[in-house]
Amino acid sequence: MRLSRYFLPVLKESPKEAEIVSHKLMLRAGMIKQQAAGSYSWLPLGYKVLNKVIKIVEEEQNRSGAVQLLMPTVQSADLWKESGRYDAYGKEMLRIKDRHERDMLYGPTNEEVITDIFRTYVRSYKDLPLNLYHIQWKFRDEVRPRFGTMRSREFLMKDAYSFDLDEAGAKKAFQRMFVAYLRTFYRMGLTGIPMRADAGPIGGDLSYEFHVLAETGESQVFLDADLATKPVPPIDTDFSGDLSPIFDDWTSLFAATEEMTDEKTFRAAVSHNRQLMARGIEVGHIFYFGTKYSEPMKATVTGADGKEITVHMGSYGIGPTRLVPAIIEASHDDNGIIWPVSVAPFEVELINLKAGDKDTDAACGTLYDELQTAGLDVLFDDRDQPAGAKFATADLIGIPYQLILGPRGLKDGQAEIKHRKTGERETLPIASAVARIKSLVEPERRDTV
Ligand code: ATP
Ligand code: MG
Repeated sequence: MRLSRYFLPVLKESPKEAEIVSHKLMLRAGMIKQQAAGSYSWLPLGYKVLNKVIKIVEEEQNRSGAVQLLMPTVQSADLWKESGRYDAYGKEMLRIKDRHERDMLYGPTNEEVITDIFRTYVRSYKDLPLNLYHIQWKFRDEVRPRFGTMRSREFLMKDAYSFDLDEAGAKKAFQRMFVAYLRTFYRMGLTGIPMRADAGPIGGDLSYEFHVLAETGESQVFLDADLATKPVPPIDTDFSGDLSPIFDDWTSLFAATEEMTDEKTFRAAVSHNRQLMARGIEVGHIFYFGTKYSEPMKATVTGADGKEITVHMGSYGIGPTRLVPAIIEASHDDNGIIWPVSVAPFEVELINLKAGDKDTDAACGTLYDELQTAGLDVLFDDRDQPAGAKFATADLIGIPYQLILGPRGLKDGQAEIKHRKTGERETLPIASAVARIKSLVEPERRDTV
């Protein structure tokens, strides 16, 4: 992408309405624009990151055996009356009437719709286990939307729903999602820590929230520091096998939110040198809720003995539009965002230090083509602007590697690479620049680990 033809409305000043660094940087880097309270447009740079996050979520859901579909945003209230949640849900639900005065709502979650799909088509125990997921916009009329897309009213959620014959089956489904979540957050460059959590209004007992540690997190969390450095299960993990050893290994270490524990219990449970108290951003939540919906909505299958069995369900959420700011909270400096390669809007930014100079334009043009041919996602700053302004923008939008070329370097046959994360600079022959960038980027994609 040539920056001269892109749409990147960066801001010089830090917007006053933004309280936390990720919100400031998302506005400054031209990633989002607020449209109403808790409602945002995703501008091209932001949308590109969001799509990379979504792709990782999809790949790991699919790998674990979940099957993707898509349900509507606007739902009929009838299903919610059946489950008993229509009145219970309260003011967070946006209630709508259609032209026939029928009660509709903008879905805050999808247990009812998915249970309806299940009961319509699935008849036999042979069709289980089943896990269906979608990635769809939700609306929750939050009391206090804040921090940009971190807590918005309209937000994107990946929500998966598992169906099993009994609690033992549901526990296996839960473990598959648990492992998929560990991998998902790791692939985004995050440390996503599973914490014992309250099951909330939905009820149930197997409940884990995944938190990213950051000073601005809304939750107080207590954990065994070993969890923060534990290697996640690798790509060849067998999801059809027994995942209990992995699950037990992770959950045997202490980690809980303030709703589930207190400092005293924590201090007594974890050895002194491994006690970590921190703030956490909740990026995912998985829980088992048994027959809470299948029972009132009559989602049953016929068992091997011909008897009707009410299915056991779990639900599994991840917030992609919250993950984008969470990644920024975890990875930035005074100059701007520092994207992990796997979710970076572009992997490399090529900077022409003297746009308009015939030879430099030609050399940069060749590099631009070669970077793309090498399979790299490239942003090419070809604008006629002072070098200082280009460097500031590059640092602000946080592309992991900058490849810099100007007339002086060209004369010597040398280009420069700047590593955004470390600030390290290397000068190298122009002819080897593309191969070098490729060798830096590829292992950091985390798509084969
Ligand atoms: P919170 O306690 O932060 O309000 P929740 O318990 O209501 O979250 P869930 O219903 O479990 O959240 O939703 C699953 C995921 O959806 C959350 O882990 C989070 O990543 C995301 N999410 C929930 N509410 C919002 C929101 N208002 N804005 C952005 N993402 C959200
Ligand atoms: Mg909530």
